[in-house]
Order: sequence, then C-alpha cells, then structure tokens
Amino acid sequence: MTKELIQFALHEFEKQENSIQKIYENRLCSFCGACILVCPVDAIEYHDTQIVVNDLCTKCGDCLVICSQNQKERYQTKLFQKESNKKINQYFSKFKSIPFGFFNNLYNCKTTKKDIRDHAMVGGATLAILSCTLKEKEVDKIIATEFIENKQFPTAVSTNSYDRLLKSGGSKYLPTMSLEILKEISQDEKINSCIITTLPCQAYVIEKLRNQKETEDLVKKIKYVITLLCGSGLPTREDVEVFLKKKKIETNPNDLEIHRERRKKLWRINPQHEERYIYKSEDGREYDFSSKQILRTRKKPNCSSICPDYTGIHSDISIGGSSISRNLIITRTEKGEELVKEAISKGYLKDLKKFNFLERIIIKFMGNNKRKINREYYKKLFRN
Ligand code: SF4
Ligand code: SF4
Ligand code: SF4
Repeated sequence: MTKELIQFALHEFEKQENSIQKIYENRLCSFCGACILVCPVDAIEYHDTQIVVNDLCTKCGDCLVICSQNQKERYQTKLFQKESNKKINQYFSKFKSIPFGFFNNLYNCKTTKKDIRDHAMVGGATLAILSCTLKEKEVDKIIATEFIENKQFPTAVSTNSYDRLLKSGGSKYLPTMSLEILKEISQDEKINSCIITTLPCQAYVIEKLRNQKETEDLVKKIKYVITLLCGSGLPTREDVEVFLKKKKIETNPNDLEIHRERRKKLWRINPQHEERYIYKSEDGREYDFSSKQILRTRKKPNCSSICPDYTGIHSDISIGGSSISRNLIITRTEKGEELVKEAISKGYLKDLKKFNFLERIIIKFMGNNKRKINREYYKKLFRN
C-alpha cells in the first residue's frame, strides 16, 4: 500500500483535479494548515479534522504547490544525502541509519526551572528555549499551540506572556492546522519578529513559503523555527472511528473530550504529559484512551507513510525527548546554536554533555521506526 501512496505523492498530484481533497481522502494530510493559509478565495474548509474544498475553488493550484505532503520537490532535492550524516555518524557511531539531516551541534539537555519542568512533556528544553527567547526580547511573539475552551483539538496561538507560554507547554501530536495563524501574524503591525514551534512537515512548508516570491511575506517575521521530532504522525478522525468500533463503543469522535495530563509509567523516571481521549457514556461508564492506543489500531497508512523527515531538517533547532526526562537538541543554523547557548548560559537549560546508552537506543529506535514505515520512499530516494 505504501508504494502506491508514494507513487500518488510523487507523480499524481498535479494530474488530479481538486488534489487537496484527494490528499485528505487518501489519508496523507498532516493537518499543517498551509493550504488554508495560501488559498486566495478561502475555498478550503476545516471542521473536526475534516477538510472540504468548496465551490469557491478556482483550481489555481496554490494549495497543492505549498502542501507539505506534496513530496515531489523533497524527492528531487535528495535532502537526506548520506554525506550529510557524517558528523552524526561519528557521534552515534553505531546508529548510521538514522537520517538527521544537516546540523551544527548536538546537545543533551534538561531545564533547570521547576515551573517549566512542571508544564513540559519531557526535559523542558523547548519551553526553556522559548522562555529565554521571550525574556531576553529576541522576539515579540511566540507561536505555540494550546487547548482553548470549547475546541476539541489544540489551536495555534501567538503570545508574549510567560504564564501563557507555560500553559502551552508540552508537545501536542494532534491535528492543529497551526500554519493558518501566519496570515494574522504577517498582517499585525505590532509584531516584528516571532519564533514558531512546529512539526517537521510544517518546517518544510515554512521553507517553501520563504522560497516563493508570492508567499515570502507570510513568513518574513519568523526569526526562528523550532521543530519537534515526529515519528508516527497524528491520529485522524478516521483512526478514532476505527478505534471506537474496535472497542465496541457506539459514539462518534466529536463526543470525546481530549485533554492532557501528566502520567507516571513504570519505565519513565518522571511523569510525562499525555493526550487522553475521554468519553462518558449515557449509562455512566467512563472510557479513557491515549493517542498511542488509537494509533496502534491504525491499519491504513497516514501522513507518516510518505513523510521522510523524522527530525525536522528545515528548522533552526530540532528537539526530541526520551523517557529519562532529557532532550536531544540538534542545532542546524548559527542563530539556532546561539539561542541554545544563550539558554544554557542564562541558566534555563543544563547541558548534560553526553548521551547515555539508553538514550542512544531510544533515538535509534524512533528514527529507524519511521524509516521502516516509509521504507519504499527511502529505497527510491537513495537509488536516484
Ligand atoms: S486550487 Fe486555489 S482556489 Fe482552489 S482550494 Fe486550492 S488554493 Fe484555493
Ligand atoms: S497536508 Fe497541509 S497543505 Fe496538505 S492538505 Fe493537509 S493541511 Fe492542507
Ligand atoms: S509524520 Fe511527517 S507529515 Fe506526519 S505529522 Fe509528523 S512530520 Fe508531519
């Protein structure tokens, strides 16, 4: 199945009418929000993780060009050339097969601040860097995602408040359409610069927007891009439907409440934030599932089936976590490097220097798992 999807992603998009609808219907959508951002006539509607292209569509094709899942360009540019991994291979000598992309430096860090740790998913590195960037006035706004009342899925927000930033803490591997907010940011005269936290596919779109004359203004205020490592994609509405059916729960995904809470697991040193799907049935029974449980019942491919990027190679800084409350930080640009160094020197982050064996195993497992998912894609990529 993956092979057919790759062929579709690499060759068929431009031949299809209404391709954005096709991307969604073929379960390739990563809910990045880029198509809504660029559509000149607001023809793309997004409700409850469903995408509908309405009759206003003029078939201009702008949405298709920018779509993060239109992989043709990625395939042609061979972003994962083996030589780019030389330095990482020296560091992770046994783990040559993980595609990390170009990078400057690697850090193993955790935050030193208790309030950040309490709101973070793992080691708090992302929140620590964002807090430092805000307090040192490097940027006017931070673009993050948070749960807003009456909305089932998280929403992109821009803020310069430290308290609000803390509330937005923790990765949210849920559909957010967060790039949609860039239109508002680009038009707001009070904002001159911002930092954005994204998934790898969204960082790729930001790079695409930067490289097109017609869209460069939408991203010119973005000073830094921080990307969270993303291994298996996001649970879609259809995944939730399949899961509920399998569990013989008769309801629809909209009846589920999604929220985040800290949970302790046997194999984790510290409790971590998790997205929980909660459902209270009419007969008073309460069901409580994690997004990982939902993804386990996923039979069909999703965005990760064709997504080659685990670490976010288009960002200034990539950040991942491990079960032992630390973060892997990959700096890819000089300005990303400076930001991390500043967070360390100002006491927001503690540099733990080396990765231990367990952390290396986790990173290897995550990177290779994604490669396994889209093995066909990689085969093709390295063959050409
Ligand atoms: S083809 Fe053009 S008008 Fe139609 S949805 Fe895409 S961007 Fe909008
Ligand atoms: S992947 Fe992004 S750009 Fe493509 S259809 Fe989904 S939301 Fe739109
Ligand atoms: S797997 Fe790839 S396309 Fe899907 S959400 Fe993660 S980074 Fe985006």
